[in-house]
Amino acid sequence: MSTIISTLKESDDENRVAITPDVAEKLVHKDFQVLVEKGAGEKAFFSDQAYVDAGATVVSRDDAVSKANLIAVVNQPDEATRAKIHEGQILIGLLKALVDTDAIQELAKQKVTALSFELLPRTISRAQSMDVLSSQVSIAGYKAALVAADQFARYLPMMITAAGTAKPAKVLVLGTGVAGLQAIGTAKRLGAIVSGYDVRPASRGEVESLGAEFLTSSVSAVGAGGYARQLSADEQKQQQDELVGFIKQNDIVITTAQVPGKKPPLLVPQQAIDNAKSGSVFVDLAASDLGGNVSGSKPGQTVMTENGAKIIGAGNLASQLATSASEMFSKNVQAVINDIADKDGNLNIDLTDDVMSQLVATDHGEIISDRLRDALNLPTKQPAEDAPEEATKETKDADKGDE
Ligand code: NAD
Repeated sequence: MSTIISTLKESDDENRVAITPDVAEKLVHKDFQVLVEKGAGEKAFFSDQAYVDAGATVVSRDDAVSKANLIAVVNQPDEATRAKIHEGQILIGLLKALVDTDAIQELAKQKVTALSFELLPRTISRAQSMDVLSSQVSIAGYKAALVAADQFARYLPMMITAAGTAKPAKVLVLGTGVAGLQAIGTAKRLGAIVSGYDVRPASRGEVESLGAEFLTSSVSAVGAGGYARQLSADEQKQQQDELVGFIKQNDIVITTAQVPGKKPPLLVPQQAIDNAKSGSVFVDLAASDLGGNVSGSKPGQTVMTENGAKIIGAGNLASQLATSASEMFSKNVQAVINDIADKDGNLNIDLTDDVMSQLVATDHGEIISDRLRDALNLPTKQPAEDAPEEATKETKDADKGDE
């Protein structure tokens, strides 16, 4: 019997889908059976008929959950759906393992094998094709510049017309990782004068290569794996004080700063909002229930301040570019399936593998990822001393033949 892969319809506030018809077709060609919950792709403009044409079967949610060997989702499913996922099934998506630890622990109790994309080790080159965080925040960064331009009541480029000259807008991007660099590139293409700021000095070269100015932070905070570390309370105060000065010289501020698994740092304090020019626009990509980078931002809402600034809580902009975002998300899911499927199409996760040992949050009732164990205050797992020698990754890939 062939391995069954399914995908579910996301909640009302999510437009993306985890498997597109294009990827469904590729999976069907590799002899997987693909089940798609009715209406799953609708909001990303993929009809049920497109899935049927790709060789997939459109089914009820109950069937998509109960019959699958692997269930691919964008976000963690609701409690009722989670309760129906059973031992031996694989669930993969943005499961918020480090933040929604209750849900992950429930899945562990149900002995579900849960793969949470937030845990993917992004600097291992083999994992780059699976990197949902990069593919989705890159889209969010692009869209952030468009949202800001749309909400700003002036031109972004300099305009010289018979009716007078419009000055170019000044855009500041706080946090110049994957999302920030996309926001910088897009704002530059729209003709704004752009600057970027980060606590990782290494990002200077990337910002400057896009033709933007890099504003040097007096706080340097390089953490593990190329990420920023969390700042101390004193460093945060120092940073906020220096940012107040930078922010008031700009018309648009796009914030993207994250510290994995932690509350986002507050980069735009209330004082900066109070000093902002009337008509300024703040787009906060870090806005979430945990807080955001901008004082007063609310996820999914636009707040108008008394002094005429707009604060846009834009925690899920990738969902607004649902077709492109789903296409990339789906390719990332396909890369994981290719990685764990053997040549007969059976899904076997090698927990000694350097990518899977981190991407897998739970397996057979155990918490696998060391980052998650750390967040749950569990001791780091020791490698089993008498573990049989596993086939190397290269041997396994060679066994699989051409993809
Ligand atoms: P992220 O989403 O964790 O954070 C976004 C940005 O916010 C980062 O640049 C971070 O330095 C910055 N930030 C955090 N706290 C800050 C603060 N207090 N003030 C100002 N800025 C702050 O980061 P990301 O976009 O995922 O990227 C982080 C790093 O990982 C980058 O160097 C990126 O190039 C690298 N990366 C590498 C790969 C790869 O090798 N394949 C893939 C993805 C990302």
